[in-house]
Amino acid sequence: MKNLLLVVSGPSGVGKGTIVDRLLESGNYALSVSCTTRKKRVGEVDGKSYFFISREKFLKTIEEGGFLEYSEHFENYYGTPRAFVEEQLASHDVILEIEPNGALQAKKSYPDAVLIMIVAPEGAQRQRLKDRGTESDEEIERRIKRADYELSKKDLYDYILVNDDLDECVARLENIIKELKRI
Ligand code: ADP
Ligand code: 5GP
Repeated sequence: MKNLLLVVSGPSGVGKGTIVDRLLESGNYALSVSCTTRKKRVGEVDGKSYFFISREKFLKTIEEGGFLEYSEHFENYYGTPRAFVEEQLASHDVILEIEPNGALQAKKSYPDAVLIMIVAPEGAQRQRLKDRGTESDEEIERRIKRADYELSKKDLYDYILVNDDLDECVARLENIIKELKRI
């Protein structure tokens, strides 16, 4: 069975991280840890949530070709370390949790990459961001505004999943993956 590069996107607060955490519980997947120049949030761990690096180091890594994809949003850079993904794909399905610009770059490098967009039921995004409690009201509004951009790219994705009931959404995604691995 071939290993899959699973690229998960969707507006901030729709539940991507929660869904990916559920997939990881099986031990069958390798999660790519991205590099970012943004500040660490409370509770985040360097090397686990992200590799928190300086702008200088990020720009140097771009020059060296060290990112499989990268993009700049929310005034910070975010990128996927190329070496980790290439190594892990030899033995695992690999998950990237990245935004659409990066997802499309990943698809160019890996045409077999599976692009999955998670969306929230109408009106749920703001409440979920509030419940998460990790951003200021101002930052929440910025993330909600950016949702239009993310959603405008949804037709480029292979699968769109509505994260209404979490268990159901995870089960649907697991079924999609199972089917793809059978092909
Ligand atoms: P993202 O990674 O997309 O930014 P998170 O996974 O951090 O989003 O989820 C945002 C918030 O929504 C968290 O507090 C999470 O517990 C909650 N959440 C995730 N999925 C659901 C769901 N299906 N129903 C209700 N709340 C959810
Ligand atoms: P956050 O700041 O909430 O952790 O992430 C903001 C956005 O950056 C999310 O849409 C997330 O998917 C995206 N992101 C995280 N890592 C990467 C990455 O390596 N590359 C790209 N292009 N986007 C990323």
